[in-house]
Amino acid sequence: MCAIFGIAGAEEASNLTYLGLHALQHRGQEGTGIVSTNGQEPFAHKERGLVGDIFSVAVISKLQGHSAIGHNRYSTTGGNTSENLQPLLMKSSLGWVSIAHNGNLVNSKEITKRLENEGSIFQSTSDTEVILHLMARTQERDLVKALIQALTQITGAYSLLVLNQNYLIALRDPQGFRPLVMGRLHGKPVFASETTAFDLIGASYEREVLPGEMVVVSLKDNFSIQSLRPLQDISPKRCVFEQVYFARPDSVVFGSTIYHTRKNMGKQLAKEQPAPNADIVIPVPDSGVYAAIGYSEFSKTPFEMGIIRSHYIGRTFIEPRQSIRDFGVKLKLNPVAETIKGKSIVVVDDSLVRGTTSRKLIQHLRDAGAKEVHLRISAPPTAHPCFYGIDTPTKKELLASSNSIESIRDFVGADSLGYLSLDGLLKVSSSSAGEGFCHACFSGDYPTPTFNN
Ligand code: SF4
Repeated sequence: MCAIFGIAGAEEASNLTYLGLHALQHRGQEGTGIVSTNGQEPFAHKERGLVGDIFSVAVISKLQGHSAIGHNRYSTTGGNTSENLQPLLMKSSLGWVSIAHNGNLVNSKEITKRLENEGSIFQSTSDTEVILHLMARTQERDLVKALIQALTQITGAYSLLVLNQNYLIALRDPQGFRPLVMGRLHGKPVFASETTAFDLIGASYEREVLPGEMVVVSLKDNFSIQSLRPLQDISPKRCVFEQVYFARPDSVVFGSTIYHTRKNMGKQLAKEQPAPNADIVIPVPDSGVYAAIGYSEFSKTPFEMGIIRSHYIGRTFIEPRQSIRDFGVKLKLNPVAETIKGKSIVVVDDSLVRGTTSRKLIQHLRDAGAKEVHLRISAPPTAHPCFYGIDTPTKKELLASSNSIESIRDFVGADSLGYLSLDGLLKVSSSSAGEGFCHACFSGDYPTPTFNN
């Protein structure tokens, strides 16, 4: 998962891109970058670190021009190195081209091997570079045509922003795994992974870039817009995990506000997995808060913030280093003893992946005096890895891949454990965001071939 943001025809394009990336920081924290243009040459800056730390006034003032694209990186394919930071910027027979990618190409290893055998030299280990090489190798001299030819060879998840001196192009793969939305600022187009970026810069949300749609903005024709459907239509497979976990609750993703979708997941969870004797419902903050509100409302059990989260530590799930992931659950999540002492509590979280954090947290709750702990998860068991841009652990590391619900309950030390069913999750998601979700990490039903992954 990464964040992308793009804007055309704006007075302060790079400054607005910086703000957009800031609002999308939750989608990737390893590094960030912006490439801007004045319609002739590119200006670029990328660095490892957080948006607020990397882009100073001095840096932004060098990123000139009316149009820009930006990226926050969260590594999936390729490692956490500075060569893999985006937007990538390359020169070829097409002139300079820059690209920012959210997603993961499932056939990138095969294509890279073939291109290397044919003499291509890759500058990074990121799958995104494959797209630039495929474009450069076409006979086309027009960016739009070259990009369309490249797209016919790639499979997987990609929401892309592509920039050169003539165009800003926004597009989504035909299944639309990762989100991408379009808005307007002073009548000019703006694109982002989530609408929360529009809120910050005062842009209005217009619509989703549709699965399989390519929106072409001409930088040479008063930023006019053309919508193309260059690839064969197939049924959409939007990532349901965006709604469960990744997107910000104040964003509209796949046509619905995440806050309400998560609350409804909690209501459905309470319907399916009641805990009749519970005294209070408490969330694992921040991710479990919205589902816990829904659970509390439906079950008519009081909601309490019984665990306090320190905001000075990153989200455990997004950290790629095992040494950090296991470090200090108590440092991050601390029970409020007076609230939970002697009570039977329902603890609501949005996912249970390895189970190590939940196990430690439940022990802390018992140490703080909880009488009973009933764990409720507002998603089905995560039993399969993702190949479409979410850095889930390998199948072996996923607790639910080889354990029954009863043995998971025993491992985490809860008095009871209940998950939202897949049918329940899809019912809630579909009613708010239309049909057509990928749910492979829960069901193992992968919507594309997974090649050598
Ligand atoms: S496998 Fe899971 S995380 Fe990956 S795209 Fe599908 S629903 Fe999303």
